[in-house]
Amino acid sequence: MLEFTDVSKAYPGGVTALRGVSLRVEEGELVGIVGPSGSGKSTLLHLAGLLDRPSSGRIGLAGHQVDGLSDRQLSALRASCIGFVFQSFHLASRVSALDNVADGLLYCGVQRAERRSRAAEALHKVGLSHRLDHAPHQLSGGERQRVAIARAIVSQPALLYADEPTGSLDSASGDGVLQVLRELHADGTTIVIITHDRDLAAGLPRRIAIRDGRVVTA
Ligand code: ADP
Repeated sequence: MLEFTDVSKAYPGGVTALRGVSLRVEEGELVGIVGPSGSGKSTLLHLAGLLDRPSSGRIGLAGHQVDGLSDRQLSALRASCIGFVFQSFHLASRVSALDNVADGLLYCGVQRAERRSRAAEALHKVGLSHRLDHAPHQLSGGERQRVAIARAIVSQPALLYADEPTGSLDSASGDGVLQVLRELHADGTTIVIITHDRDLAAGLPRRIAIRDGRVVTA
């Protein structure tokens, strides 16, 4: 599903954030990418999320070799294959949970009624059927993150990336969000969680540890 082969990333100014990273994530896995601050996790996520290109090495994603693709093709692949969940939710304020999720289908050529019915289904999956009409400020942090997860999965992406998904939450809400991710994994979604939280990582079926831009266990 995701394969890095000897991937390096140097930023202008001379910082080498990733050094010869090779890793594989298989279809249906739930895996944590773990490492301390500054180890290269965000850089890895940007490359794996097709938001940036490596300085060298090859990246394969959902059966595509990414290197030869144009920016336009990369954007199209990202939109069709990847869902993102961020630490800070990134929901539109003053917009209901249902419409926040439905808007995840805006560029997929799906009619409005169908967008809303698929959004309701995604919100049901994350346990929020009773909150469809609530705007983000009427929801708890854990509920907001579950709306963000629903938005990320509504287009049924092959891969879901969650970047510190519990980082802004108290531990009970964080556990609830992790439970939702586990259920999605049990349903077959491939999920990569980026985190510096060792306890969170310890509870995942597999961890890829990075340190100083290198994979130390895979
Ligand atoms: P993490 O997410 O694990 O904290 P990052 O990937 O953000 O790690 O950072 C890895 C290294 O790359 C750090 O030394 C950081 O300062 C550097 N870095 C990250 N982004 C940039 C950038 N856009 N330009 C220059 N250096 C960067």
